[in-house]
Amino acid sequence: NVYVADSVYSGAFFMKTKVNPEDYKRKKTITILGSTGSIGKNTLDLLERYESQYKVNFLTAQSNVKLLASQAKKSRASGAVIGDPSLYEELKGLLSGTGINAAAGSEAIVDAARSTSDFVMAAIVGAAGLYPTMAAVSRGAVVCLANKECLVCAGDLMISEVRSSGATLLPVDSEHNAIFQVFDFEQPECVEKIILTASGGPFRKSTEAEMEIATPAQAVAHPNWTMGAKISVDSATMMNKGLEMIEAYHLFPIKPDQIEVLVHPQSVIHSLVAYVDGSVLAQLGTPDMRTPIAYCLAWPGRINAPSPRLNLSELSQLDFEPPDEMRFFSLKLARNALESGGVVPIVLNASNEVAVEAFLKGKIKLTDISKIVENQMNQFVGGVINSLSDVVEVDNEVRIYTKEYINKYN
Ligand code: NAD
Ligand code: MG
Repeated sequence: NVYVADSVYSGAFFMKTKVNPEDYKRKKTITILGSTGSIGKNTLDLLERYESQYKVNFLTAQSNVKLLASQAKKSRASGAVIGDPSLYEELKGLLSGTGINAAAGSEAIVDAARSTSDFVMAAIVGAAGLYPTMAAVSRGAVVCLANKECLVCAGDLMISEVRSSGATLLPVDSEHNAIFQVFDFEQPECVEKIILTASGGPFRKSTEAEMEIATPAQAVAHPNWTMGAKISVDSATMMNKGLEMIEAYHLFPIKPDQIEVLVHPQSVIHSLVAYVDGSVLAQLGTPDMRTPIAYCLAWPGRINAPSPRLNLSELSQLDFEPPDEMRFFSLKLARNALESGGVVPIVLNASNEVAVEAFLKGKIKLTDISKIVENQMNQFVGGVINSLSDVVEVDNEVRIYTKEYINKYN
């Protein structure tokens, strides 16, 4: 009872599994990678409401040991893992007497991903999520994928691992979740294009000169969504939408030239699929990540989510405009990376992660980010990627060079 919508287009793949309804009534176990982040917290908020249906297995975080411990206690998790090994004793102390296992280090996060649970919410930010997410995919879990950087860096490897392990990949990212809901996987050849909507971020209407002096606080103040700092800066530069084009390419049976970006400042239409007969199907909702997360947790069914309801008559107006690729040059860079493939998307992602961090620390301007990424993309072009360790090697090398470049930049 498993069917695979295997695409005629190379590289892109998606799998839908028909689940036995009886199996769906069973209590499900879930591990959350990155539980202390924005997606992690939203996931726990939902799970709290469905305690009889889901059992929390492991929670992992990098450094916020206090929040991790309190989440583990509240959700009665089996174990908690802190990435920073120097925080192990503190975690152990906070969990003493609870019966909740404490562990530390990046290997322990991979072990948590590998340990048996029905679902893994992959919500670590950045390429740091590569090994744990791949571990969950390799053991054939249902992986709710928020960590888009994984697909950007290692999409081909991850999708081929999904194929061989029988894992199910469910897209958490709101745009991809929207497309997942309206894409006809049984006849992908009838899809003309997909349209990823973008809010345009906090600087949609700003001039280049205003963007030059944007502070980190202004950049992370997203008009519609509350998210982690890195993705918020990515939204401000629109690199987020660039990464999402690459993410979409790996998730859905489409070619790069079938992916369009449309600025839609209200973030009500989360994305659209246009068909050959002129029909356009969209998924709408208020901007609340608990909706796509709930869709993944309940898929192929649905559960109630507490997201504010959409009131179109109150909203009265929806706006659309094409993206400005001059001011938001990251979009162009990401499209180049998507078309080039190979090491280029890894370079795009790693240099962007380093540049975003430098911007958040006040070392560079917001407008320097895409210039730095472009420079690194011109430096690293060749190289063959056959394994995850090849990806990590390129990622590490690019990080070292980008940091050196930034140190000499000003
Ligand atoms: P966040 O910064 O709020 O949280 C990141 C989580 O990852 C934290 O729990 C942190 O402890 C953990 N982490 C960070 N560095 C780590 C490391 N080196 N090793 C292990 N764990 C580490 O980020 P977020 O906004 O929740 O985003 C998480 C992912 O989901 C990102 O890839 C983002 O692009 C994607 N996403 C987020 C949203 C959103 O609304 N926040 C929407 C769509 C997609
Ligand atoms: Mg998104």
